[in-house]
Amino acid sequence: MNYIKKTDAYDIYIEPSRKTIVIRQKWKYIWSVASGIPNWSYLEKKAWHQKADNVIWQQWGSKFIFWALSKDHNNSNTSLHKKEFNLEFDIQWVTSDQHWIANVKKINALEDFRSRVNLTEKKIHLAHIDIKRRKVGAINQNTVKHEFGHTIGANDEYGNAYKRAYNQTTYESIYVKDTKGLMNIGNELRTRYIRDIELEVNKMIPGVTFAAFLEK
Ligand SMILES: [Zn+2]
Repeated sequence: MNYIKKTDAYDIYIEPSRKTIVIRQKWKYIWSVASGIPNWSYLEKKAWHQKADNVIWQQWGSKFIFWALSKDHNNSNTSLHKKEFNLEFDIQWVTSDQHWIANVKKINALEDFRSRVNLTEKKIHLAHIDIKRRKVGAINQNTVKHEFGHTIGANDEYGNAYKRAYNQTTYESIYVKDTKGLMNIGNELRTRYIRDIELEVNKMIPGVTFAAFLEK
């Protein structure tokens, strides 16, 4: 028996038979191009989606463990006690009922494009190059991987030095020095990035609690 929970940002599937928890996110795409650049062909769109999905399931997936504890020993959920679940991610290309609108633009090399996620409008803004690793100065990360972090509730942790002037604040994240972290300017995952998922998963099976941690 699987347990399913739907949220505004993703759907959660707990699959006890596979010892797996899947985070499934549905994206509806809007494809655009900078002036003078040829439009997206269907094959280009398909290839781009597959690459984005691969980056997310390969670089976010099989990295976190959910450790289950069953408190209620009269409950049928006792079979989950002390079982380890693997966390996986899946992005589906849909044309309706999406969690997120993904705006993907073929940009000019010189264009000053800012990849970002708008949480209230449920929009992800990406450039076509964002499925590749970006190395600019000290920044070294995969942009799709970073922006996906926002869609599951992780906040930016980089300091003012990496923000646009109008975005700079006196407040900086307590993790501002963790520059190897993905939500900073690096590419490494941290357990705190999946705190929202952990909270949701812990509402799904009566009598069962899960503790999430990053696999070494
Ligand atoms: Zn960000």
